[in-house]
Amino acid sequence: MDYQELSRIFKETLSLRWDPVAVRLVRMGEERPPEAVEPPVPLRHCQSIIAARRGNCLYMPPRSHACPDGAGILGLVEMSPKLRSGELYLLFKKMPDLETARKMIATRPEFPAGEYEATLLAPLGAAAFAPDVVIFTLWPEQAMWMCCALTYATGERQYFKTSGFNSTCADLVVQPMQSGAMNISFGCYGARAASEINDFELYLSVPVPLLEPIARSLLKLSQKSIPEERQKIYLHPVLDKVGPRRPEVKETAGSRVEIFIDTERCLGDGLCVAFCPAGVLALVEGEGGKRVQALYPEKCSACYTCAGQCPERAIQLSYR
Ligand code: SF4
Ligand code: SF4
Repeated sequence: MDYQELSRIFKETLSLRWDPVAVRLVRMGEERPPEAVEPPVPLRHCQSIIAARRGNCLYMPPRSHACPDGAGILGLVEMSPKLRSGELYLLFKKMPDLETARKMIATRPEFPAGEYEATLLAPLGAAAFAPDVVIFTLWPEQAMWMCCALTYATGERQYFKTSGFNSTCADLVVQPMQSGAMNISFGCYGARAASEINDFELYLSVPVPLLEPIARSLLKLSQKSIPEERQKIYLHPVLDKVGPRRPEVKETAGSRVEIFIDTERCLGDGLCVAFCPAGVLALVEGEGGKRVQALYPEKCSACYTCAGQCPERAIQLSYR
């Protein structure tokens, strides 16, 4: 899959608002790609991500970086002594004392000063260079599907490392480059104060080797699971009325749940039977062919899976 195809799959399957952003740390001596422009004014690294997701291809040597912290963490320049010592975090009142600030700095992922020459960014679909990571701007639900897609491909859980400090440089570039693992970031003081990330958005950064397995998984998940979740197919109809149980509702022997099956609508395809985790339902031969029946209603947990999966909406549940 090329980057254009990958970008299309991510945007379509997740309904992304913003283009995923390809980021490369330019190694010493590498040529600057002809399509990449230096911004007319210096930008913070977080701001350059925003510019790239709006369609720009940016080449950012140290003189284009407005945030000295970010440029230092990305290995473009020597970190200023005031930032390195933690003093500035105290002035901003972002840390309680120097010891805590130093601990945060010491455990933060960084590249050594001078390791890289520039940052290079573009929308993934237009990237004419090999990115190190791709940064997604997501809602939590879209981030959930990215995690789900990687688990679908590998069977493994994801673990994230973040601190709420230095998000777009340390969390989204250095951390995934050093670990080879996807990483999440909720933004940081600087990124949220200086760039266009909405309160309900977060970032996820993916090392390039993981892009294709995630995209392939999303193509599969978008055939059933993603649209079903978005249609809220298991939403219980009494969710808006949940409260203390009414005194007149008495526990009776057996099931508290009544399962109504509209036999006129039932196709007899057995989907509800297959999906029911409790073995409540069965197909029974009748006059008009096979129809579903609730043979063991006392086992029903009211999970709503049968109702959500039925293509005819032939099943309803209610409490006695
Ligand atoms: S899923 Fe719906 S249509 Fe299919 S057997 Fe069950 S009730 Fe009938
Ligand atoms: S609500 Fe859940 S447990 Fe009850 S019959 Fe339907 S699928 Fe089975």
